[in-house]
Amino acid sequence: MDNCIFCKIAAKQIPSTTVYEDDDLLAFKDINPAAPVHLLVIPKQHIATLSDCNDSHAALLGKMLALAPKLAAEHGIAVQQDADGKLSGGFKTLINSGPNGGQEVYHLHLHVYGGPRPWRGLG
Ligand code: ADP
Repeated sequence: MDNCIFCKIAAKQIPSTTVYEDDDLLAFKDINPAAPVHLLVIPKQHIATLSDCNDSHAALLGKMLALAPKLAAEHGIAVQQDADGKLSGGFKTLINSGPNGGQEVYHLHLHVYGGPRPWRGLG
């Protein structure tokens, strides 16, 4: 898509801080982080919103979601459990879809947030 900022990032026409790349996906640091760690996972192909997805996208969507724990581990935000079973750390994953969903960039993306709280505008 000519006018899509995330297509341009995927095509390396504008810079981003890439943290993961394969044939289908790119993950990079959010330019305006709402949490100490804020990453975005996008498909390289242009898909405007989750509303445009159907069963044919299941593998791609699964790949996006499955990347989140790998990124979380690499960025120190995975869920941890100590010897007493106490949990710490952890992360939030989010896909905003459409105006009521708070989507601002119309190229499908999965937010991955983590790190010490508070976070800006997030529950
Ligand atoms: P919201 O801004 O409400 O989270 P989206 O879910 O559409 O809406 O998220 C778009 C995200 O893309 C924002 O977190 C924004 O900071 C990020 N962003 C916009 N432009 C860039 C860019 N050039 N590089 C990295 N992140 C970007």
